[in-house]
Amino acid sequence: MKLIYSENFNIDLGLLNYLHPFDGTKFRKIIAELASTEVLTPETGISMDEVDEFLTSMMRVKVRDEVFVFRALEVPKIPFVSFNFLDRKILTPMRWAVAGTKLGATLALQQGGLYWNLAGGYHHAHKASMEGFCIYNDIGISVVQLLKQGLLSEQDKILIIDTDAHHGNGNAFTFMENPNVTLLDVYNADIYPRSDFTRERVNIPVPLASGCQGQEYLSRYQTALSQLENDYKLAFVVAGTDVLKEDKLGGLMLNKDDVAQREAITLTALKERNIPGVILGGGGYSKLSAPTVANAIKHCLSLGF
Ligand SMILES: [Zn+2]
Repeated sequence: MKLIYSENFNIDLGLLNYLHPFDGTKFRKIIAELASTEVLTPETGISMDEVDEFLTSMMRVKVRDEVFVFRALEVPKIPFVSFNFLDRKILTPMRWAVAGTKLGATLALQQGGLYWNLAGGYHHAHKASMEGFCIYNDIGISVVQLLKQGLLSEQDKILIIDTDAHHGNGNAFTFMENPNVTLLDVYNADIYPRSDFTRERVNIPVPLASGCQGQEYLSRYQTALSQLENDYKLAFVVAGTDVLKEDKLGGLMLNKDDVAQREAITLTALKERNIPGVILGGGGYSKLSAPTVANAIKHCLSLGF
């Protein structure tokens, strides 16, 4: 397993950091704890041309409009903040994160193996929407580019595992009409997003109730993984840490060791089936998110991944 990180992933707003519970510099903190680990870095952020190739014509306008971007980031519009500021401080780091996902998926297809992009996993965005702190659907954008480059074909089977506390409505919408994409989603069914339309697209759903503990989460996840087939060309995993009991948004009750165990279970399931893949950061809004991810990566490395 190789890590993917760029200093450009970090969203540092200085005094404005209080605007959102998301710890925008958590990627830097994770990598600081993993000092001796080899890291791969994308050469540049994803271009707006590549973003546009995924989006509807209406969304191409909205992603360049600060009113719509503020709404998607779930922060109030601040009168003195321009689109340029938003673009430089928040959207550019997010485009680097998308490039990290594309790099991981590209290497997984070319060389096999598992890659862990510390950022990305923007599973609420899709071609016609940005919401829930997700502007660019990194998986959808990457798949468009991989198809274009001939690394994937329309017939190839893709697996998306989503263990973030929230249902991955953006990925479900993106691949609504594509039967070659299998979705396994473990999520708190009592919280956003509540769309039955996208929830019903999930092939292997694991809906949980608020307050679910680690033991139940892990045993139901393990059962869901046993339903997977072996013939996926590529896997994406949205490994959000908003499942932690300290997280104010996820509503679940996992601890740090549960998350480490969850990531080891995921990687084992992929390795056993010989599925190359890329793990993505996903959500994680508490201060414990960074040490939890670092702990999980150390655990997986110690197991030989
Ligand atoms: Zn989430």
